Amino acid sequence: MVGKIPLLSIVCPAYQEEEVLPEFHLELSVILAGVEEAYNVEIIYVDDGSSDRTLRVLRDLARNDRRVRYLSLSRNFGHQAALTAGLEHARGDLVISMDSDLQHPPSLVRELLRKWREGFDIVLTIREEDQRLGVFKRLTSRSFYRAMRYLSDTDVRLAAADYRLMSRKAVDALLQLRETHRFLRGMVQWLGFSVTEIPFQPAPRKAGASKYTLRKMFSLALDGLLSFSKLPLRLSLLLGLIAIVFSLAFAGGAFISLFSAQRSGAIGMMLLFSSIQFMGGCILLSLGIVGEYVGRIYQQVKGRPLYLLKECWPQTESVSRVSSARNQSGSAGWPAEQDQSAA
Ligand code: UDP
Ligand code: MG
Repeated sequence: MVGKIPLLSIVCPAYQEEEVLPEFHLELSVILAGVEEAYNVEIIYVDDGSSDRTLRVLRDLARNDRRVRYLSLSRNFGHQAALTAGLEHARGDLVISMDSDLQHPPSLVRELLRKWREGFDIVLTIREEDQRLGVFKRLTSRSFYRAMRYLSDTDVRLAAADYRLMSRKAVDALLQLRETHRFLRGMVQWLGFSVTEIPFQPAPRKAGASKYTLRKMFSLALDGLLSFSKLPLRLSLLLGLIAIVFSLAFAGGAFISLFSAQRSGAIGMMLLFSSIQFMGGCILLSLGIVGEYVGRIYQQVKGRPLYLLKECWPQTESVSRVSSARNQSGSAGWPAEQDQSAA
């Protein structure tokens, strides 16, 4: 990259962040001022279908700051889809993604850039445990990553955040993964390349409330688990085996009781009832697990775009390099094949 100033893209998804965005932009700008001699900078905000004044704030920011570009999705598609939209439209030689609520401290950008210059393609940030977080959030997050470690082949680092730097090579590789249910933290670690980590202490949210409701958290955890592990499917096999062993034991018990002096009809009925219950439970559980995978296959096969754009700036937004996401009103993210055939 001799003689050429690299372009740094910063991708920030924002959902209902009208209160915090101006402050976030200001803090980010202060940090970027220190690196702009060495890098050209673009900041890509992705409004994830906010119903508050987020889009208006972004229009204002774009009017006053030439580095700002924004995408506005047609509705709320979720954090992972918004991040993907931003990554698809980023043109940088290196891309940093970060939340726009100031929980990911912009001051870490310098450290991320230093690691990139050392030659790393992916720089992850690892959240140090935040004692201010509720016990419930800490506990659920810790158990989730433990389960992921145990169940999946990909080592999803404990507490990896969606605050990371990726080289162009890594971004292009990531955008080739076309799953509908996206768990970017796992997908990035699946890529390989040269990876390093930086620990950080998450700051409290500057304004507004967390958009990760319990439902969204659960759904992200399930996406992570199911897209990185086939082990739950094997659980039905294990349950089946246990049920067979139990039923053989019951059959043996019943056979012995036929010859025993004190035959009890009540005990027999209870055993029968509980074994039917047990079997019913196993069958439903296995069906449920298989159903989760089948549902995901169904959604993947439908091949709907990951997101739709209703507005973007600049309006002459170029076509994304990897999927041919287009930028006119109503343009879509994936799938590339459909997009191209429609073009
Ligand atoms: N976000 C988004 N779409 C959503 C939910 C969240 O783009 O459906 C953005 C949000 O604006 C923030 C980031 O994703 O910049 C992380 O969300 P949040 O801070 O609510 O999650 P938490 O930090 O509480 O886990
Ligand atoms: Mg947050």
